Amino acid sequence: MKPITPACSACGSTDLLLTDGDGTLHGLCRSCGRLQEVETRPEPIRQLCDNCAYRPDSPERADPWGWAEHRDRHIDGGVPFYCHKGLPLDFDPLGHTHVIEGEATTAEALQKPCAGWLAARLAHCHRQIQAPTRHPVTTIGE
Ligand SMILES: [Zn+2]
Repeated sequence: MKPITPACSACGSTDLLLTDGDGTLHGLCRSCGRLQEVETRPEPIRQLCDNCAYRPDSPERADPWGWAEHRDRHIDGGVPFYCHKGLPLDFDPLGHTHVIEGEATTAEALQKPCAGWLAARLAHCHRQIQAPTRHPVTTIGE
């Protein structure tokens, strides 16, 4: 599948100032001003992004306790986990980008679950369905 033309997730403009210095494509929209990690996947619901937390080599998975908590909450617990591509970014004092939190961002995030989370959650649900039901043995000695 060919990557899609980079466009702003807020206004749809393709007039973006692009940089991929760290291997991830960032875009500053010249129309509305949003800084974002640009979406380039034709099917985001089925494809992990380039820096998805669910990639085997991700920093998130390199933290065993943090990843265990993530698994408990999002995979076993079913709390949805969302893709960050296209969401509005800001810089922290160290120059790293992070998603700007708030109701508007949350509402936008709801539109695109993380492909890695979706696959892991579906696999978890399939295992639950296929697992034999366990009943306590109560007939011994009765
Ligand atoms: Zn824009």
